[in-house]
Amino acid sequence: MAIDPRLPYDPDNVFAKILRGEIPCKKVYEDDFALAFHDISPKAPVHILVLPKGPYVSWDDFSAKAPDAEIAGFIRAVGTVAREQGLVDPGYRLLANIGQHGGQEVPHLHVHLFGGRQFYGMIS
Ligand code: C5P
Repeated sequence: MAIDPRLPYDPDNVFAKILRGEIPCKKVYEDDFALAFHDISPKAPVHILVLPKGPYVSWDDFSAKAPDAEIAGFIRAVGTVAREQGLVDPGYRLLANIGQHGGQEVPHLHVHLFGGRQFYGMIS
């Protein structure tokens, strides 16, 4: 079920537990601002999730409340992951599900990075 984006940050959500190392993940990248790992249920040949390390439910509170250094660090990390995974050429797709209408399931901001095949049109 999609989350209610008005809820406060839940420190026991599954991605918070992954960030604390309480639940394992297939990590591909980590720095001071972000963690990236393979999605447990991949929807493409490459399906990686990139999370900011701070406690942000969605793009809404991240963009409104995060310090500039965290925003810049997260965006740079997404680009670094794509480069390190060899996705820049021929390209890839980024997706962030935000709140109920966005279909967001996990209440910690994350970007889906899809690659390894041609994508057409929009994901419904
Ligand atoms: O954007 P949304 O919140 O809908 O996506 C959550 C994603 O987190 C799903 O693609 C799901 O497979 C993934 N997931 C994961 N590892 C978990 C729990 C969820 O990769 N332990």
